[in-house]
Amino acid sequence: MRVVIIGNGVTGVSAALSIRRLQPDWEIIMISGESSFHYSRPALMYIFMGHMSYKDTKPYEDSFWQKNRIDLVRGWVTEIDVAGKKLIMHEKDPIAFDKLLLATGSKSNKFGWPGQDLGGVQGFYNLMDIRLLYENVKGARSAVIVGGGLIGIELAEMLHSRNIHVTFLVRESSYWTNVLPIEESQMINRVILEQGIDLRLSTELKEIVGNDSGRVRGVVTNREEFIEAQVVGLTAGVSPNIALAKASGIQTGRGVLVDWSFRTNIPDVFAAGDCAEIITEGEQRNLIQQVWYTGKSQGKVAGEVMAGKESVYDPGIWYNSAKFFDLEYQTYGTVRNVSVEGESNFYWEHPDGSRSVRIVTRGGAVCGINIMGLRYSHRVCERWVAEKRSLEYVLDNLAEANFDPEFYEKCEEQIIREIKKQAA
Ligand SMILES: Cc1cc2nc3c(=O)[nH]c(=O)nc-3n(C[C@H](O)[C@H](O)[C@H](O)COP(=O)(O)OP(=O)(O)OC[C@H]3O[C@@H](n4cnc5c(N)ncnc54)[C@H](O)[C@@H]3O)c2cc1C
Repeated sequence: MRVVIIGNGVTGVSAALSIRRLQPDWEIIMISGESSFHYSRPALMYIFMGHMSYKDTKPYEDSFWQKNRIDLVRGWVTEIDVAGKKLIMHEKDPIAFDKLLLATGSKSNKFGWPGQDLGGVQGFYNLMDIRLLYENVKGARSAVIVGGGLIGIELAEMLHSRNIHVTFLVRESSYWTNVLPIEESQMINRVILEQGIDLRLSTELKEIVGNDSGRVRGVVTNREEFIEAQVVGLTAGVSPNIALAKASGIQTGRGVLVDWSFRTNIPDVFAAGDCAEIITEGEQRNLIQQVWYTGKSQGKVAGEVMAGKESVYDPGIWYNSAKFFDLEYQTYGTVRNVSVEGESNFYWEHPDGSRSVRIVTRGGAVCGINIMGLRYSHRVCERWVAEKRSLEYVLDNLAEANFDPEFYEKCEEQIIREIKKQAA
């Protein structure tokens, strides 16, 4: 039996390891056009900033793959011949498969802006983008970043670290406020401004303007302002990378459509991770998850199913974390950007505006937690949400989640007092 996996990101790797565990004798081939070896995509920014080398971002030794008899192929798949069960490769011989996993990740969104293909204009998703960025920053004095999400702020920090003046265009009235409640969002606005980034809220890109040699010289906003830039970063979100599936007759929506065991509409063809869209009967919207740990969990289940084990994905308690310059953020469960009927929000913010804790309850049970500027224990916070603990229980046991004794002495009492006051 030969299993072929397209993509060596966290999803593909996690699936390959699942299959190897359950099927010691199967042939496993993992293909990637981007890199020969798996590396940590969230660490991309640190390569550019010189904090890590590419080698440091590889979670496994290069010999690991041979030891586990996972054959790595570097190359781009251009077509899936579903009926003939083979992959057509760019400048390589076709590769036959018995079972196939699509783990092709995401791609940066481009919305057809005039000038989006000029030199110096780029997205930020992969190693090719990092290489391009090294070229694009040569001699650059100023940059514009378009799109106020997690990747946009990383790119802003990367360019800022090279002393390039950054203007950050955010369509919303506050940074990432389509995800974060306004208080947390405003805390990040302050951090961005304190860094000397020119944050322009409620501002959209209208056009990218080039010079005679086809390189960007600036952008025009929806307010008809011209902003000079030699680099433009397009970071207005990512979408599932489905081009290959779509062209091959595999059913797609926003992502590759799969069931909770990652089966597509084609027998023996599976999809998981960022590129997959799980069909959720009865829910308003299908499920697309585009973060590292969900890729890992989805890949594990997809691999099990491909190896013949009955396995169904359980998304569990939502978790995400990020860093906005030096400000750390963790979220657990459901914390909405706006409060809804039936949910109560309890919020403490340090008087200097640098740290906060938000606890959300529904029907008397804690259903979500946001933490900014401090680090709480993942295990403990997740357990509180999973066990549907009461607000009172969480406050009584807050110390259990806190790693930082200095902070505990300084702020714990304030948090408990403030939240109890709000709950009274
Ligand atoms: C800059 C950046 C920072 C991030 N930071 C975080 C973070 O801090 N925390 C977090 O949880 N998540 C973060 N993410 C998201 C996280 O990296 C993704 O959710 C995760 O990498 C998705 O894994 P995946 O294996 O599904 O896809 P990917 O990692 O995107 O891997 C897809 C693979 O498919 C290959 N591929 C695609 N098409 C073809 C083809 N036709 N032929 C051959 N190979 C192909 C590519 O070469 C690539 O290897 C970040 C993402 C980016 C871009």
